[in-house]
Amino acid sequence: MAAPQDDMFSFCVEPTKVSNYVEVKFIDKIKGKGLFAKKAIKKGDTIFVERPLVSAQFLWNSLYKYKACEYCLRALETAEDNARRLTGIPGLSLPHPELCSVCPEMHQACPQCQVMYCSIECRQSAADQYHRTLCLGSSQDDPDHPINKLKDAWRSMHYPPETTSIMLMARMVATIKQVPDKGRWQKFFSQFCSRATNEEEEIAHKLLGEKFQGQLTLLRTLFATALYDDQLSRWFTPVGFCSLFSLVGTNGQGIGTSSLSKWVHACDALELTSQQREQLDFFIDQLYKDIEKETGDFLNCEGSGLFLLQSSCNHSCIPNAEASFPNNNFLLHLSAIGDINPGEEICISYLDCCQRDRSRHSRHKILRENYLFVCSCPKCVSQMDELDLTSDEEEGEAEGETEGDDMEDEMTDV
Ligand SMILES: [Zn+2]
Ligand SMILES: [Zn+2]
Repeated sequence: MAAPQDDMFSFCVEPTKVSNYVEVKFIDKIKGKGLFAKKAIKKGDTIFVERPLVSAQFLWNSLYKYKACEYCLRALETAEDNARRLTGIPGLSLPHPELCSVCPEMHQACPQCQVMYCSIECRQSAADQYHRTLCLGSSQDDPDHPINKLKDAWRSMHYPPETTSIMLMARMVATIKQVPDKGRWQKFFSQFCSRATNEEEEIAHKLLGEKFQGQLTLLRTLFATALYDDQLSRWFTPVGFCSLFSLVGTNGQGIGTSSLSKWVHACDALELTSQQREQLDFFIDQLYKDIEKETGDFLNCEGSGLFLLQSSCNHSCIPNAEASFPNNNFLLHLSAIGDINPGEEICISYLDCCQRDRSRHSRHKILRENYLFVCSCPKCVSQMDELDLTSDEEEGEAEGETEGDDMEDEMTDV
């Protein structure tokens, strides 16, 4: 049974305002739910701001010293420290340091395990929701602790898509274990499962692939050793664990935060003489060149989260909305990238800009492998005839692209 509409807005910053603006409607059995405009929305408008039910930084990202708040993923390095690390230039200093929004004096460590938070509020929220269950205390660096074994196993396997994260699953379990209003949270999580059990098995199978069967069993065993709970026994069975996987794999939304990019945006907004502007832009351009040389494209703290309302937003290759994280934390802003009429469906693209310009064939390959569906948006439907005439040459080209994609995936994790 679907929960009342209002529940879908529970994690929005202004739920009442948002519910006057948009609604979630059932479309059909294949597409499931969709998000629709109730009023005219102008290009550039923020449609809603939503925080995730659970989120977690990717394990590789934190291992490689991208420091983020354990709760809200806010980047914890100052823009200057961030720039120094990413360029590998220890003496680098940024102009306009006052535009950096990071406040190291506000940061708080968990007194037991020393993981860092951006504020006392985040530390409290994490402790109340899941951290009391997941805190490793003095075993933080003990490789034999069950949670560390689970993390280690996860890092040693490479699971597509990148948004799938074992720690999201762990935080879901920990949340249900420790919150007083378990029923309410279970209902929230159940909003994400819109598929029949047999279909879920098929998805998990597609997601993990045949060769990962042994690894899946290992993960489930480690997951159960670390987190088993009688009330949640169904999530620890082979079928239940698969469906948890398929839930996180199909609904996980990538989150990226960066104190440096926030500083750059603040610089862009400065009122300067044209000479000062030229100098500052030159400095920033050079900075990004130095970063590219040293670190490549990996600038952000990266993780993923489960967003209740946003998860009802379907994919289109010609989207009218996009998600971003302008607050340097896990708050997702959905904004209109075109005018949207009342009654129109609001869609986002699960692909990035470069991927969107690829052939329909490779777009579908990426979507199928990462999001487990075939796109039927107007752009893809209009190209349907083309696909039927796909030549061997195009197939070859698509294969080549796929190899590139795999490499990109691996690099993103590192
Ligand atoms: Zn925080
Ligand atoms: Zn702790």
